[in-house]
This record gives sequence, structure tokens and C-alpha cells, in this order.
Amino acid sequence: MNIDQVRPWRAIERRKSRKIKMGDLEIGGDAPISVQSMTNTPTQDAGATIDQIRRLEDAGADIVRVSCPDEDSTAALKEIVKASKVPIVADIHFHYKRGIEAAKAGAACLRINPGNIGSADRVREVVQAAKDYGCCIRIGVNGGSLERHLLEKYGEPCPEAMVESALDHARILEDHDFREYKISVKASDVFLTVAAYQGLAEATDAPLHLGVTEAGPLRTGGIKSAIGMGNLLWAGIGDTIRVSLSADPVEEIKVGFDMLKSLNLRTRGVNIIACPSCARQGFDVIKTVETLEQRLEHIRESITLSIIGCVVNGPGEAAGTDLGFTGGGKDAGMMYVGGKPDHKLSNADMVEHIVEQVEKRAEYLRGLEKA
Ligand code: SF4
Repeated sequence: MNIDQVRPWRAIERRKSRKIKMGDLEIGGDAPISVQSMTNTPTQDAGATIDQIRRLEDAGADIVRVSCPDEDSTAALKEIVKASKVPIVADIHFHYKRGIEAAKAGAACLRINPGNIGSADRVREVVQAAKDYGCCIRIGVNGGSLERHLLEKYGEPCPEAMVESALDHARILEDHDFREYKISVKASDVFLTVAAYQGLAEATDAPLHLGVTEAGPLRTGGIKSAIGMGNLLWAGIGDTIRVSLSADPVEEIKVGFDMLKSLNLRTRGVNIIACPSCARQGFDVIKTVETLEQRLEHIRESITLSIIGCVVNGPGEAAGTDLGFTGGGKDAGMMYVGGKPDHKLSNADMVEHIVEQVEKRAEYLRGLEKA
């Protein structure tokens, strides 16, 4: 019996998009939803860009986008692609030559809008390069840079204008017999973003890349993204995501995964369930959770851990987690394993012991994967 039958209120039925390939990574169809971020180092500085990509990979990034505004950037791209374990999307915008150079340099995807490149010859050349070098393309419509004729037709950026823009670009690729593309229709306004994606999801079977653009700093940007993208993901829409934050790109990956984990669409790392704490707490819940979050950041296996201040909610939460600690005794609490009370643990030893237990469980899960 699967989870949909046991708890139908948790089921998300994903939109059936067509599957494309980005390097070795599958996108769309039944492929897991990919989490993406973008480097903010100067691309010409291959060393700094590779270092940042490494940090993003460690955080779990499936895809990394790199801006290629000039020839020096596409020249550095070759080394960057070679050093990357994840597929690289070259962000091109208007310069068709950068697109061709990026394809030759090994980019797995070009982020380029065919309607913005210029003449039909240029479009043909870029599409040919994408075909020759096995790149897919991301069409990226942005509410802030819609084509003039669409703004005149619709009066302002609106969902219909964004969908029309996206379909116009897609038609150009289809006319060149190119179907390896995904589409995004991002806006900084949550309502506009959601309505545009809903419209697009009806109009095409292309995989969709989700994002609320220019969402802002970590907290507010994360919340805006969670509301907009969460709404779409919950409705089954979205094949890749990027949380656009004015923050360290690694945070984008963390927030993206947390979003998918909240909806049970991906699993990764330790999911800590913790109470907000109050006067009943048997230990300092907030400080402990902060410490554990940092100490357990390296864990990739999916493990649930409950850290609860007292017996009001502790045993109930621990029952549904792999490991749990509930405060309450004199400077000590109860450690739960597999949902059941297992052994007493002093507050002083708690952090070290829990880290050890989680690492052991991760090792056990790794063993199961290999077996
Ligand atoms: S679980 Fe206990 S300590 Fe935590 S908030 Fe609830 S009552 Fe307070």
C-alpha cells in the first residue's frame, strides 16, 4: 500500500511534463524535481567560480547556472564545466555568439530566449550549436522585461502576456525542430508568478522551471518563494526550481530543499522537528537546535529528528521520527529510537550523543543503499 492510499491528503499529483535531458540529468516527467542556484562570482575567474560551484554541490545543488556576459566568461566556461559534477546552465540573454561559444565549451543548457537573439540566421546558428553539442535550452520569460508589443497589447505585465511571450519563444524552437527546452515565467510578484505558471502549465507539456524572481533577502525572499512556488509545487507544477535570494547562493539550495522536503517531493539530510520552547522546557531548545542544525549539515541521508522541550509534545513527536529527544527530567531527558523511548540522556551529553546517533544512522542508510 503506498502513501497516497494511507494518507491521501498528503498526495501530490505531478503535472505530466515531457522529459528532457540536461547533461546526464533528467528533467520533467517522473524525474525528481531539481534544485538549482546561480554563481555570483565573476565567471572569468574560473577558480573562484569552481570553488562556489563546489560549495553548491556540497549543499545538494542538482544544477548550477553561470552568467556568460562576455567572451572571457565563455572562455573560462570550459574549465568550469570540466570541474563541475553537476550540469552547468550558461546564462546568455542577447548575444548569440556567447550562446554558440557556451555550447562549444560544454554547457549542458543555454538560458536564452530565441526571440531576443535577432535575425533568423542567428537563431538557426544557436539552435544548431545546441543540437551539435547536446545542450538543452531554457526559455526564461521575466515579468520585468516583456516584449514591447506584448506590453502594448496587454497594457502591463500580466499572466496572459507572460504565457504568450513564452509560447512565442517556444514556437521558434519548435520551428527549428528543437524540443529539448524548459520554460520559466518568473515575476517578482507572487500572484503574477503563480497565475503565469498556471496558464503555462495548461498551454504546454514542456518541463517548467519555477522561480519567484528578485524575491529579496533570505527571510522575506524565502517566504515569498515558499508561498509562490509552494502553491505551484503543491498543485503538481514544476520540474526544476530556483529560490532567488539576495544571499549566499548556498542558502538558495538550502531553502529550495526545505521547500521540497516540506511537501515530501524530495528528501535530503536531517529534518529537525523542534518545538518553539516555553517555560516548560527541560533544556535550552533553541540553542540546542541551532547547534544541531550546524553539526548535522553534512548529513545527506534522509533522517527525521525530533528535539522537544518537554513531555507535553515530546513523546508524540518522537513517535513519528527516526531519532528523538524529549526534555523533562532533572538535567536529563529521554532519547527515542525508532519512535520508542530507548535510554535516558543527560542534557550535558545530549548534543554529542545525538550527533553520534545521527551519523551512525546515516552510515547504516548508506550501507543499505550500497547493498
Ligand atoms: S513541547 Fe513543552 S517546552 Fe516545547 S513549547 Fe510545548 S510545552 Fe513548551
